[in-house]
Amino acid sequence: MIRLKNEKQISGIRTSCKLLSAMYKELLPLVKAGVETLEIDRWVRNWIKKAGGKPVFLGYGSKKNPFPAAICISINEEVIHGIPSKRKIADGDLVSLDCGIDLGGYISDQALTVEVGKVSASAHALNVATRECLYKGIAAAKAGDRLLQIARAVQGHAVEHGYGVVREFCGHGVGLALHEDPQVPNYPHGPNPRMSGGMVIAIEPMINQGIGNVEILDDGWTVVTTDRKKSSHWEHTIAIFSDHTEILTKESLSAQGCSKEM
Ligand code: MG
Ligand code: MG
Repeated sequence: MIRLKNEKQISGIRTSCKLLSAMYKELLPLVKAGVETLEIDRWVRNWIKKAGGKPVFLGYGSKKNPFPAAICISINEEVIHGIPSKRKIADGDLVSLDCGIDLGGYISDQALTVEVGKVSASAHALNVATRECLYKGIAAAKAGDRLLQIARAVQGHAVEHGYGVVREFCGHGVGLALHEDPQVPNYPHGPNPRMSGGMVIAIEPMINQGIGNVEILDDGWTVVTTDRKKSSHWEHTIAIFSDHTEILTKESLSAQGCSKEM
């Protein structure tokens, strides 16, 4: 069931989203070669706690294997759900960050992929195109239109560039819980409800240099490309109103990532 949000709820979700984007803005200069991904997780936990929020990813999932960190850090062939570890970020890495905050019961969700140091031209091109996929998807999110318009826009742009679209994972309703209905796939598939005012969704293309196929590592979380080629991931939380669509999370990249060239 799709839970439409009222004005007060959207206002609360907006505040949570602004906080998350502010967190990223401070975090991004720390995402550089030589830094352990565990250090980033510690910083994120601390920042969210100080801001009065809760990290929604921490402890998410099954009781047997809950996600052990506040932020997912997925490097190169890792697509999503990378677990922070003693691994050090290296020059040339594509580092995907994905985080969510619960602020007073209102949930935000945002992801972006940072280019660390000198990345290859092909990795940069993938990252630029994936970010474009996100914005094409957002442009297709309009009250009155069908949800899979988003999927067509995302997939169309990725395929045009010869990239693979991840099919096993998708965007989702968000705001009062981390994962709500509807599912928002990146290729046309499944239910196709009409979008309407009050819908809050996370659009999150996961696009691969090679084929779209992925597998999950033995840790039960880390999703990697089966061909081990690089992947990029961009996500915004958006609110659909009857007459316009608002991006609730904000672009946080400045010196890093691919925003310079956009
Ligand atoms: Mg996310
Ligand atoms: Mg999400």
